[in-house]
Amino acid sequence: VDTRELTQQMCATVGAENRFPGDERVGRALVPGAWGAWPLCVVQPGSPAEVTAIVHLTEQAGAAIVPCGSGSGLITGYPPTADKPFILLQTARLNRILDYQPDDLTVTCEPGVTLEQLHAALAPRRQFLALDSPLPERTTLGGLVSMNRAGFSRPSYGTPRDLLIGVKAVMTGGVEVKGGGKVVKNVAGYDVCKLFTGAWGTLGVLTELTFKVRPANEAELSLSWDCPSVSAAAELALELYWSKISPAYALATNEPEGRAAVIVGIQGTAARVLWQQEELARQVRRLGINSPLIVLGETETSYLRDVQARVHRDVRLGCRITCLPTELPGVIRNLELLPTLRMTAQCAVGTLNVASPNPDPALTLSLRSAAPRSAHLLWTRIEPELSKPQKIALWGEARPDFVLQRALKQALDPKRTFSPGRFLGGL
Ligand SMILES: Cc1cc2nc3c(=O)[nH]c(=O)nc-3n(C[C@H](O)[C@H](O)[C@H](O)COP(=O)(O)OP(=O)(O)OC[C@H]3O[C@@H](n4cnc5c(N)ncnc54)[C@H](O)[C@@H]3O)c2cc1C
Repeated sequence: VDTRELTQQMCATVGAENRFPGDERVGRALVPGAWGAWPLCVVQPGSPAEVTAIVHLTEQAGAAIVPCGSGSGLITGYPPTADKPFILLQTARLNRILDYQPDDLTVTCEPGVTLEQLHAALAPRRQFLALDSPLPERTTLGGLVSMNRAGFSRPSYGTPRDLLIGVKAVMTGGVEVKGGGKVVKNVAGYDVCKLFTGAWGTLGVLTELTFKVRPANEAELSLSWDCPSVSAAAELALELYWSKISPAYALATNEPEGRAAVIVGIQGTAARVLWQQEELARQVRRLGINSPLIVLGETETSYLRDVQARVHRDVRLGCRITCLPTELPGVIRNLELLPTLRMTAQCAVGTLNVASPNPDPALTLSLRSAAPRSAHLLWTRIEPELSKPQKIALWGEARPDFVLQRALKQALDPKRTFSPGRFLGGL
């Protein structure tokens, strides 16, 4: 790779003011130190045509591209393979809302639009994109779709996979592809939207996304009761979620201050929310919890949501355990024997986010043995000194479908242009 020539060509493509040096100064703000390498440069294209040109130039030079939004999720997964230098393609300038049809409940955006920006645009028509992800001011739609992450309300609304109905992307050779569209109805054929959702930037660069949106809730509340332990909170959360009150979500947590609590989200019309609040209070007392009801304010709920992103520097290890909802209380009971673990369980979907400031390598083994064999562990954040000696598979242990995943990657990105090595089994 002729680094000098490539970075000069990038300047000519996007303009010198949108090409930044990929050195420690700029790279440090975006690329996790654990990657051990800086990008050749950081480029911010302003149009899909510029993305196409960047893909051409990078492939000609034999380099790789790591797409990124704000970079908050780059900490998850492996670093790009060392055999190829890479550029960071940041979507900061692809930040336009292209089309909003409130009557059709659809919105089309460029990938660099943040969740906060989109919610502000939909609010005047009392609509919203039903993804309550952490850090909405930093979370770009391209990053969110590529990570297929969803927030607390996932049991009610699903994940990006359920809400994305149209997609455009630039793939190898600078080829622009399109899947789905602006109508909520699906047509026959492979579902291109789902292919790119959760692909972690390994198949191409997303350039346009169409989502279905929803009418906003008239009222919303998060209710919390202290519990004797997180496992007791998980048992209570499941009881409440399965009851006829059907809340939007039910969490068991010891965040932010180590106090075990159940947190239940209720949403809908004002009358329904009032009814749910009264019924939940009655049910909680009936189930033997006598601690007072705490109604969480927006600030407390946002804080609890934001800590799930594990961007704080004191976190040395973050892991998401996925199992059957009924298995959660048992998993948590095993983990309660370990010190200083922060836990938040989304009980209705069977996921448990665990974080620790503790750099003890034995912790990774304890986490694995606390969960049933059938549980899936995704190491969302882990320091190399913890993962390397034990050769931890960051995306979980090999599964039979890895063969198919590998075949897809080879067929769709034969030159290994997009985020090579970052994904499952080093894809
Ligand atoms: C450890 C951790 C745990 C988290 N847990 C949750 C959670 O449980 N629930 C939740 O809702 N949120 C969670 N988040 C927060 C949030 O979902 C992500 O941080 C956010 O979605 C990433 O947005 P971003 O713009 O920073 O993406 P980036 O970090 O910039 O990118 C994320 C991934 O998407 C790829 N990508 C980005 N843009 C594009 C594009 N245009 N085309 C192709 N690929 C692209 C990147 O290559 C990268 O692999 C978590 C974050 C972290 C770091």
